Amino acid sequence: MIINLKEIPDDGVKIEFDVKLPSDEFISEGLLKSKLFIRNLGGMIVINGDINASLLLNCNRCLNEFKDELNLSVNITCVQSEESTLDSRQLMNDELDVCFYTDDEIDMDVLASEFLINSLPMKILCKEECLGLCSVCGINLNEQTCLCSKETKVGSLGDLLKAAMN
Ligand SMILES: [Zn+2]
Ligand SMILES: [Zn+2]
Repeated sequence: MIINLKEIPDDGVKIEFDVKLPSDEFISEGLLKSKLFIRNLGGMIVINGDINASLLLNCNRCLNEFKDELNLSVNITCVQSEESTLDSRQLMNDELDVCFYTDDEIDMDVLASEFLINSLPMKILCKEECLGLCSVCGINLNEQTCLCSKETKVGSLGDLLKAAMN
């Protein structure tokens, strides 16, 4: 959904829209349902609301797909930038939820998608204590145990220490 900033009424506008995320390495499927309230405060665009995300993610450790649902509170400020290299596709950084726009339009689909992606943890895990795959036999250690798992862990810790010392 493209929002033309000139068409935002003085008392703001409520929008509801769905976005399907493109699948990538970590996200198999993703559907975002956004309910946002947009105000134009003299060129500073303030966006508040909620994004509900139904996701099918790939665990970084065991590679299994798992379902996740996130409810995010949105509080984004968009400011106009004169630099043509910046556009609404670039959220400024993860901590300050600021975005830039150059034209009079903001692509809300991109904004919602980036907001969600920035909200995901660096490591996507099916559960915090996910045991991952055995690096020797490849078994999913959450589902089965193997005989090599113990030795492998000691071995790989030793390798890590070696690597750290070099
Ligand atoms: Zn996992
Ligand atoms: Zn094994």
